[in-house]
Amino acid sequence: MAQNPYLSSQLSRISRPSEQLRSIVRLPGPFAELPRHPILYNHPSPIHPLPSLSVNPQSPNHPRINIYAKREDHGSPLACAGNKYRKLEYIVPDILSSTPTYHYHEHHPTTLKLDGPATILVTEGAIQSNHTVQVAALARTLGLKAIVLLSRGTGGGLRASQNRDSFLRSGNVQINRLIGAEVRILNEGDPAAIDANPILEELRASGERPYWIPGGASLHALGGLGYARAAFEIEMQELELNLEGSGRFDYIFVACGSGSTVGGLLAGFKLGETGPRQVIGVLNSPTKPRSYHADRVLSFARRAAAQIGFDGNDRPNAEQTIAMDDVRLEDRFVGTGYGVLDVETTEAMRIMAQSESIILDPVYTAKVARAMMHWVREDKIQEFARQRGLEDVNILFIHTGGQAALGAYADVI
Ligand SMILES: *Cc1c(COP(=O)(O)O)cnc(C)c1O
Repeated sequence: MAQNPYLSSQLSRISRPSEQLRSIVRLPGPFAELPRHPILYNHPSPIHPLPSLSVNPQSPNHPRINIYAKREDHGSPLACAGNKYRKLEYIVPDILSSTPTYHYHEHHPTTLKLDGPATILVTEGAIQSNHTVQVAALARTLGLKAIVLLSRGTGGGLRASQNRDSFLRSGNVQINRLIGAEVRILNEGDPAAIDANPILEELRASGERPYWIPGGASLHALGGLGYARAAFEIEMQELELNLEGSGRFDYIFVACGSGSTVGGLLAGFKLGETGPRQVIGVLNSPTKPRSYHADRVLSFARRAAAQIGFDGNDRPNAEQTIAMDDVRLEDRFVGTGYGVLDVETTEAMRIMAQSESIILDPVYTAKVARAMMHWVREDKIQEFARQRGLEDVNILFIHTGGQAALGAYADVI
């Protein structure tokens, strides 16, 4: 398949940022040496205030709460920009390598080597997965093919839909097809939903070199690096924004699905060492208990920490550096299912749409916004400020994208 000339010229422009722009995010030592293929714009994704959600003090004892949004949904020129592109930046060098190392399926860590760069990307997700669209769009810009496996059984969005037929072909499913990915919809109980290895073997037998990217790219060995780098980007933006109070984002609210977004951020902020920030990972599915997600996030954080420099001689190792105490996951707003909207979550979407003109996605960021609004109403954040004598608390809401799924939720208004 030929590389799309328009997109490849666009990408090569992105991959040759001016000297000035390249130096914007400064990474320390070993981290700066890790190969990264630019997919995002060569400037940080914007951070802007959310004035209507911010809280001005009602009395001298009440700190001001300044709320900002980081627009990861505006981070890349490629289709449906979202948090997966940031992770994929660190995976592309392996995809294009003449000896890919991390291409295998996690259930079958095979020693079978690919005898050259990948020719086709294979990945998986729920029916309305944002991740699969980002992998498919990336594949096109690299001149590769893509197969996306979408499972009917993952989450409850399909089951809860008023119009299942439409859910199965609109939103991200339509975009995957438009991009030219081969979409395979898997029925509940289909063995390929658990183990894609037979599909990978078939592709090998037909002469392809398939590269497997697990759901959300979190189990991929390099999946945590993108958000470790994002932590440095946020630190740099904190300085530029001249924040009140501590001068930092005291709280960062971000969705936690497959886990490496939160894990990567934890690792990056530890390495940055410019003071504590509470990263609150907001869960969006009741399927697995919080401890399951916490274990995963901790392992992704430690894995990324080791890769970016915590296992060097002059630093403590990753295990000592990142503890379970660092992992803060909010599970009160998961609702009845992954991809299922409850009344309060829909209301949070409406507030963001009508007061800030910001469209959230129905699966992740809507639940994050709901959780954040709840935290602001609770006394915890006020208490945090009073204990530190701060008149201002700064909160960052990370918008991780996903709005394209809304097309499949036509009843949400
Ligand atoms: C995948 C995704 C997330 C979750 O990120 P993880 O790294 O899988 O935890 C959050 N928001 C959106 C819109 C996503 O597509």
